[in-house]
Amino acid sequence: MLALTNVQIVYDNTIEAVREVSLTLGKGRIVALLGANGAGKSTTLKAISGVLYPEDGEIKAGQISFEGRPLAGMAPDRIVKQGIVMVPEGRRLFDQLTVEENLLMGGYTRSAADSRRGLERAYALFPRLTQKRTTVSGYLSGGEQQMVAIGRALMSEPKVLMLDEPTLGLAPQICEEIFGIITRLRHDSGVSILLVEQNAQAALAVADEGYIMENGRIVLDGPADKLLRNEDVREFYLGFS
Ligand code: ATP
Repeated sequence: MLALTNVQIVYDNTIEAVREVSLTLGKGRIVALLGANGAGKSTTLKAISGVLYPEDGEIKAGQISFEGRPLAGMAPDRIVKQGIVMVPEGRRLFDQLTVEENLLMGGYTRSAADSRRGLERAYALFPRLTQKRTTVSGYLSGGEQQMVAIGRALMSEPKVLMLDEPTLGLAPQICEEIFGIITRLRHDSGVSILLVEQNAQAALAVADEGYIMENGRIVLDGPADKLLRNEDVREFYLGFS
């Protein structure tokens, strides 16, 4: 459904952040994209969502396609309309706006009825947000902010949801909750999920497939359960030796 073929991305004409990356996300699947800081994961997500600009990073080679159509060069809002939405690292909420206002931002192109249905879905998925609908987002906990960010992304009923480090800086119990939500989302809505994570073990536990990036390249990929058993993965990414 979403496919990257030999994608190369260069910053400032010099820094090769992504090298010959090929990756496939099938319909209704969860794919984990793993690797250390600076490996090129966020750059890959930015390229898919169209938010790399020539003065910043540039796709120098390769193809990105969605449902058989090329995406590269398409404006970010058109990519959202195709059904691909990203929850960026750091969540990027409007801190001065309430939970409900932030959620509504995710559905601003839709009809009032669609927005209402989107809100109902978000509150059903995150019951905790129901009591906080009029709370200013800046006052929420990190976990609650992440829930609003995911809820906002879901307002447009995407086919593909890309999550960049959704559990970064969250307490272990909240991380578990977020991973539970990811599994439930796929089950309930059939959305395909591309998950960038530092927490390799937890990500592979919910994913169908995994890709491991190092210095801009995919160095290993395969079924998530196989990667969880792989000796190198266990030693270098999961902390077992
Ligand atoms: P992190 O988890 O730290 O975000 P990452 O795997 O997502 O890591 P990227 O942020 O994609 O990695 O960075 C890949 C490489 O590209 C790094 O070497 C980084 O320094 C470089 N890079 C990222 N953004 C820019 C930019 N705007 N200008 C120049 N170089 C950049």
